[in-house]
Amino acid sequence: MSTIKTIHHRIGGRKTVGESSRTAPVWDPATGERQAEVYLAEAADVDAAVRAARAALPGWAETSVMRRSRLMFAFRNLVEKYLDDLARIVCSEHGKVLDDARAEVLRGMEVVEFACGIPQLLKGEYSDQVSTDVDLFSFRQPLGVCAGITPFNFPALVPLWMHPIAIATGNTFVLKPSERDPSASNFLAELYVDAGLPDGVFNVVHGDKVAVDAILDHPDIAAVSFVGSTPIAQYVHERATRNGKRVQALGGAKNHAVVLPDADLDQAADHLIAAAYGSAGQRCMAISVAVAVGDIADPLVELVGKKAQAVKVGPGLEAGAEMGPVVSPEALERIRDYIGLGVDAGADLVVDGRKLDVQGNGFFVGPTVFDHVTPTMDVYRNEIFGPVLVVVRVDTLEEAIDLVNRNPWANGTAIFTASGQAARTFQRSVQVGMIGVNVPVPVPMAFYSFGGWKDSLFGDHHVHGPEGIAFYTRAKAVTTRWPEETTDGPHLHFPTAV
Ligand code: NAD
Repeated sequence: MSTIKTIHHRIGGRKTVGESSRTAPVWDPATGERQAEVYLAEAADVDAAVRAARAALPGWAETSVMRRSRLMFAFRNLVEKYLDDLARIVCSEHGKVLDDARAEVLRGMEVVEFACGIPQLLKGEYSDQVSTDVDLFSFRQPLGVCAGITPFNFPALVPLWMHPIAIATGNTFVLKPSERDPSASNFLAELYVDAGLPDGVFNVVHGDKVAVDAILDHPDIAAVSFVGSTPIAQYVHERATRNGKRVQALGGAKNHAVVLPDADLDQAADHLIAAAYGSAGQRCMAISVAVAVGDIADPLVELVGKKAQAVKVGPGLEAGAEMGPVVSPEALERIRDYIGLGVDAGADLVVDGRKLDVQGNGFFVGPTVFDHVTPTMDVYRNEIFGPVLVVVRVDTLEEAIDLVNRNPWANGTAIFTASGQAARTFQRSVQVGMIGVNVPVPVPMAFYSFGGWKDSLFGDHHVHGPEGIAFYTRAKAVTTRWPEETTDGPHLHFPTAV
């Protein structure tokens, strides 16, 4: 502990260890070395962060919307200025390659850009003369102290889906990022300070289940945004709603890409490779199932197999690397185990990522392709969250749609086809939140909202975009009259327009 770097909480604008005595390792996935220890918050640390956020709330909620907007502009400029530094932090703790990390930060910056438009986004409604001498208007106000609990796979982007919107709408925020790659959030907390955000408006506590439970039970937290695996999303949703909080909890995924016989084969194969192996398959919008329809299956599997073997795997900071390691030794073991389960179940292992040879002790597993996978196999039924693409063969578009709809997850899906009619049938019939037509990773821009259906989302609101604004605010409707004369006595009937 004395020689290794330690990662602290950021509470009330200060770096602190608080009551934490426990720590967790932060790996360098490319070398397999433990590069830091992160402090794990106790309930008292979460309470300290909530108290700081509560103390900052009245001043921040009263800050004019123009000043909040200007602060977001200043924050956005700092994110752009330090984009490369942030990308390197993401790369060193998560393992993804540098270009991918840059793209992650850029997509996060786009949410800040959306939040810069908060004066426009918070404009209310006004109706003149709804009854004689009566006007009606509505506007939205912040909820109070909001919390975010986020996963390892987008350590900059997923928190950025939440805190810029929550803060721009006048809330204060406590973030509990993933303990596996915590440093990007601390860096962003420093940028907020530099942008002029008052102390206590944005706080970061690191931790595990202890911190999460303290957030879910804290009486002064009004709303919780969660992103992570489905079982934890469901748990967070249940426990926090039972405690009276507003909750949005985004869960896991098993995203299918349907390839029709009329698709451009080469394009479809390239897109499948990018979507299955980008970030080593550790994206909630990764394509992990290719549904090959009809006679495209044989040439598709052959081409995908060839292209999978050509993916350049190496440390994220190494020039030319296209795919980095996975995040932790546990993730590596889980993915290797799943590949074994696929073989045991009788799936056809076209490319075996376990055979990849990268020097050193990094957490590397190569692109893997399974063919002739059936819906009962473990490699289909579970979210592997690694670079494993399974191919399921079907005869018709209808069968493909049925397969997509029988899957409990419903985050994203894509179709590759030259037929507008087939694409239209697909986009109207699939019960999935985000759909791509010849677009493999259909992540909506920041000014739309992001979210899945079914087991990929618990709660009513998607994140960022208009639904993010709605989630972090509540509406007031005000009916006004300014009478000049006294009335003719009380009318006890329900009010109607006159
Ligand atoms: P995870 O569920 O293990 O962790 C997410 C968060 O929950 C972390 O902050 C973690 O500390 C906390 N946590 C973990 N176990 C907990 C427990 N038992 N009790 C309380 N809190 C707990 O997820 P992960 O491995 O960090 O991230 C990968 C998962 O996130 C995948 O399932 C992926 O599909 C999903 N994900 C979904 C989306 C989406 O938008 N739907 C986006 C990104 C990631």
